[in-house]
Parts: sequence; C-alpha cells; structure tokens
Amino acid sequence: MDEQIYNSISLTKTAATITSLLGVSAPESAAAPIDIVLKKANKAFSGEKADTVVMYNPDAVALWLYQKYTHLFSDVLENSSLMLPLESVMPSVTPVCFASMYTGAFPQVHGIQSYTKPVLKTDTVFDALIREGKKPVIISTSGDSISKIFLERKMDYFIFDSAKECNAKAEEVIKSKEYDLIVLYNGNYDGTMHREGPENELSLNVLKENAGVFAHLASLLKEYRKNENCCLFFAPDHGCHEIDGGCGSHGLLMPEDINIVHFYEFFPKTL
Ligand SMILES: [Zn+2]
Repeated sequence: MDEQIYNSISLTKTAATITSLLGVSAPESAAAPIDIVLKKANKAFSGEKADTVVMYNPDAVALWLYQKYTHLFSDVLENSSLMLPLESVMPSVTPVCFASMYTGAFPQVHGIQSYTKPVLKTDTVFDALIREGKKPVIISTSGDSISKIFLERKMDYFIFDSAKECNAKAEEVIKSKEYDLIVLYNGNYDGTMHREGPENELSLNVLKENAGVFAHLASLLKEYRKNENCCLFFAPDHGCHEIDGGCGSHGLLMPEDINIVHFYEFFPKTL
C-alpha cells in the first residue's frame, strides 16, 4: 500500500474545543469542536464547564515521533487520559499552523499562507474569551510566531529569551490563578531539530524535556488549582522530517509534516 495516510481530525477543530470547554462562543470562522474531548471533560467535570485551560504548545512534535519514540512520551502518557492524532494544515509551518489552531480556520480564511508573522485580523480564541470577560495570557519566546501573530489584543503577553524562562513564568501564572486560558509555547525541539535533525540525540533529549514540562504543568494544576476544573493540552503545531545533510525541516504536504499528536488531561476540582 503506497497511499499516504493523513489523520482525520483537523487541527482547526482545536479553537472551538477550547472555547466550548470554557463555556464561551467560538471564534467567528472556527470549525466545530472535537466531540470526544468535550465528552471526556463533561464526564470529568460532572457536567460543569472548565474554569481554566492550559495549552502547552511544543513546536514540531510529529505523530511519527510518538510512534517511533513512544518511551520518550512516558511523562505525557502518565499524565493524560486522551490522545488524538490530528491533521495539521498547509503549508505546515509555525505561523500558519498556530493561526489555524487559535482561529479554528484554514489558512485561506485566516490569511497567513506562508512563513510570515503579521498580526492576525481574523477572530481568535483570545478575542472570543475577551468578549465574554475571560482572561487569556500568552507566554512565549521573542521573535516566535505565537509572540507576534496574536498581538494587539487587550490581554497579557509575557515574552522571554528562553523556554526555561517561559516555563518558570507559566508556573507563576498557574499559582496566581489570574488567567482562564494560559498558552505556553516551547520552540526548543523545533530549533534543535532544524539544526541537528529530528532523531539526533540532542533533539530527542529536548523532546523528552518537553514531555517533562507537560508532567510538571499537570502537577502544578493538581496542587494549585484544586478549586477549579482544569484542562491541559499537549498541542504541537506541525510535524517534521529529516532532509539532506542531517538537518530537519517541515512545511510540506507529507504525513511526517502534517500528522501530529495531541494529548489531553482533565482535572476536576477537589475542593
Ligand atoms: Zn512550528
């Protein structure tokens, strides 16, 4: 069988999934939410909505990495109750894919159709939340797509030089209980993978680190948000593949770049 297989659930369904979990209307152009995620949340929260959603966005984690290096995801598997294979969008580059994740729209609709980072004018999850009095926050590294394309909203942005500083800020923000949607971006696997190749030891070490960050976020939610219903996503933007010279790349219409994997956990309030 030579036919290439692409995952059936579109990444564009993520935006309305987030807003539906939080009980607000979806962004204007958003695709329908992912039913199974809503069903799992509904069951975990006994019919209540989520108070907080934490989006952990590690860059470039392909489905094939999960298939081939499942053991590196053990921190994620131990701390999640649902895994879904998702289909990213084309071209499979960071600003295009994160724009689709947070508008719920395909690139032809949201308008970022190449590796450019303009401020999005299309309605996003952040706009939808702000309209209904919720507080989103973005924690990301300077120059990266998430730090740029969602600017100019009445919300907080914490932009740092390193993933480590971002992760420390996320910890502080989870403890502060101030925000309803926390978006944390880590571009360190993507950066290492481009230079060293997706399966280089250095790259795989960063992948394992990303899994560890997810586990840490889970432990923080359990400890500091006991009186809230919380959801945690492990949500990469696109995959990757090896190219000549032992480097890594993405952006093409191929299963390695398009097929990604998302993980979900639901933390019902315990107080
Ligand atoms: Zn990316």
